[in-house]
Amino acid sequence: MLKVGQTEEVEITGYSSEGMGVCRIDGCAVFVPNAIRGERCEVKVTHVSRNSAHGKIEKIMERSPHRISRVCPDAKLCGGCQLHHMDYMEELSFKAQKVTDALNRIGGQALETVPITGSLAHPNETDCSWSVGYRNKAQYPVAEQRGKPAAGFYKNRTHEVISVERCVILPEIFDRVRNVVIRWAEENGVSVYNEHTGTGLLRHIYVRKGAVSGQIMVCLAVNGAALPREQKLVDALRREIPGLTSVLLSVNTRNTNVVLGDEFRTIWGQSEIEDKLCGFTFRLSPRSFYQVNHDQAEQLYAKAIEYADLHGTETVLDLYCGTGTITLALSRYAGHAIGVELVPEAIEDAKQNALRNGVENTAFFCADAGEAAEKLCADGARPDVIVVDPPRKGLAPEVIETMVTMAPERIVYVSCDPATLARDVKLFSERGYSLTRAEAFDLFPRTFHVETVVLMSRVKD
Ligand code: SAH
Repeated sequence: MLKVGQTEEVEITGYSSEGMGVCRIDGCAVFVPNAIRGERCEVKVTHVSRNSAHGKIEKIMERSPHRISRVCPDAKLCGGCQLHHMDYMEELSFKAQKVTDALNRIGGQALETVPITGSLAHPNETDCSWSVGYRNKAQYPVAEQRGKPAAGFYKNRTHEVISVERCVILPEIFDRVRNVVIRWAEENGVSVYNEHTGTGLLRHIYVRKGAVSGQIMVCLAVNGAALPREQKLVDALRREIPGLTSVLLSVNTRNTNVVLGDEFRTIWGQSEIEDKLCGFTFRLSPRSFYQVNHDQAEQLYAKAIEYADLHGTETVLDLYCGTGTITLALSRYAGHAIGVELVPEAIEDAKQNALRNGVENTAFFCADAGEAAEKLCADGARPDVIVVDPPRKGLAPEVIETMVTMAPERIVYVSCDPATLARDVKLFSERGYSLTRAEAFDLFPRTFHVETVVLMSRVKD
């Protein structure tokens, strides 16, 4: 039996799905953060549960050639970039393996390693240039530190806010926005939200930037209906943030982890920003989903469109369509494209996006994907291709059932969680759809997250 405090010299033989190194001590799998496959190290057991254990590196005996020196001094504390210690080749190899393992072990497939498309910039370099500033959205929690407002990130697996001077995966201008807001809050005595007492005003600073348009939206999530000295904030942001196009307030008085509330007020400029993606212009509201890595999202969508294999006449159903990004991209090659999405603002954006891009062969519905699919099916809809891009939890069994009943030729599944994707691939394979193509895309360099797109084709009787 393993004991906390026990220290052993081990070899790291692989990775957990969260990118931790895995080794074995006394026959038990031990997960070791910041360890790289192939390394020999002294590991101290820090936590033991029924069928796994955690440890930490005490000393590295044999360093992996893939180990790089940290570019972020806060990485360990923050925990947002779990792979900050390895070079990009190793990161991509881990991600391809993670997807392959999930599809094989959970999905019942027998695939060779699934190909992965990495971020285009300098994948061989060790200066992390592939990951600098790739995210187009940030949400900084605000907390009081030493009696003053401060904004940063939650410390690994806690709600304790740590200050991070510069987060390299964000555009530098985001840090400037954060600093302007914090300075304004401090100078004007704006109170900070306390999640234990439910008092105080300022909760989160939300920033979104159009990667192509350069437009910047700043939205403050507040526990109240108004801000004191609002104009001063607007003046400071306008003075210091080039590209600023909208300043919003989101009223969130609930005791919840959800950042934005339901009610929004534009305090300066537009209520949405614009960006260009896949040749279309998109309008984006704060609550509308938009992939955080623009260039990689374009590559992912291009693959989804290739898999859809459209020839101008087909009907395509795009479930979980967000602001209609994939729907519009598909509509170019389809006879008709239908998008379904739960968030009302996103579907309103999607409709406007179709209009402003002069796209006339789309229809959008605001509904739960499962309910909409069921209704469409009952009304006799028989799409040739169905594209799905659900949140991490994947598809509910009823959604799969309805999709199968509609009997499309092809199903294209875009997923941000290989495990739930694999679970669903297995269910589809039991219902007459076989996996024919799979590819991974790295939209989130430095983190353990990875996107996958697969093609499933109807097996002919
Ligand atoms: N395809 C889009 C959005 C993908 S993200 C893009 O790539 O931009 C997943 C989307 O599913 C989000 O917009 C989310 O609001 C939506 N969603 C979550 N649960 C849903 C449900 N039950 N029914 C329909 N849409 C849902």
